[in-house]
Amino acid sequence: MRLVLVGPPGSGKGTQAERLVQRFGLTAIGTGAMFRDAIARDTAMGRQVRPMMDQGLLVPDPIVNDVVAELFRSSARPERFVMDGYPRTYSQAVAFDALLHLEYLALDAVVNLAIDDDEVVRRISGRRCCSNPECGVCFHSMARPPKVAGQCDVCGHPLLQRDDDNEETIRRRLGEFHKNTNDLLAHYRKQNLVDDIAATDPPDVIFQNILAALARRAPKSYEPS
Ligand code: AMP
Repeated sequence: MRLVLVGPPGSGKGTQAERLVQRFGLTAIGTGAMFRDAIARDTAMGRQVRPMMDQGLLVPDPIVNDVVAELFRSSARPERFVMDGYPRTYSQAVAFDALLHLEYLALDAVVNLAIDDDEVVRRISGRRCCSNPECGVCFHSMARPPKVAGQCDVCGHPLLQRDDDNEETIRRRLGEFHKNTNDLLAHYRKQNLVDDIAATDPPDVIFQNILAALARRAPKSYEPS
């Protein structure tokens, strides 16, 4: 199974990706998490993308495309995966299509998690994520409180508010999201890959709706053109 999750920040992409990983043993590929890891390790790429991320701007397509292409061409090449936050623009989707084609892989579905902006702001303001880059699981003060305040349930590391999770930055990220998503979804709708799922429901209901949508789709295999 090969999936792309599309949705604004705070729509629950990370939570649903985590569940899909547990249920189907998929590899979760989160470009945001990859960049945060690069920043934490203070790599050259981390230093390059940090100012953009801090301002809520998208990292330029060539940088993101390269990071993803490198992963797919490495020995850790994922065969069954869920993409969390990539592709985010039409041009990234075109580059990703070409990459998958070269790798003899085909997407099965694009899950579009739909939610309005004010709900996103409310959600993100309460979000706290694990500071361990190997883990990165996110909690929410209301919707998903950790068992011990300020501590990750999974690995015990401290939970932190991400630098880009403040209202001003969230609004800018939402602006970026809307600017890019129409063309992105139109591209995938033409391929009949999109399932629209309401992201305002509780996480369990969203997950069941995703499973039902996936069950209606037969897994696609790569067909050389
Ligand atoms: P996320 O964790 O997916 O919310 O991503 C956090 C930040 O990383 C975004 O606000 C962007 O600055 C950057 N980023 C992550 N994925 C992408 C992408 N596919 N294209 C451009 N920028 C990205």
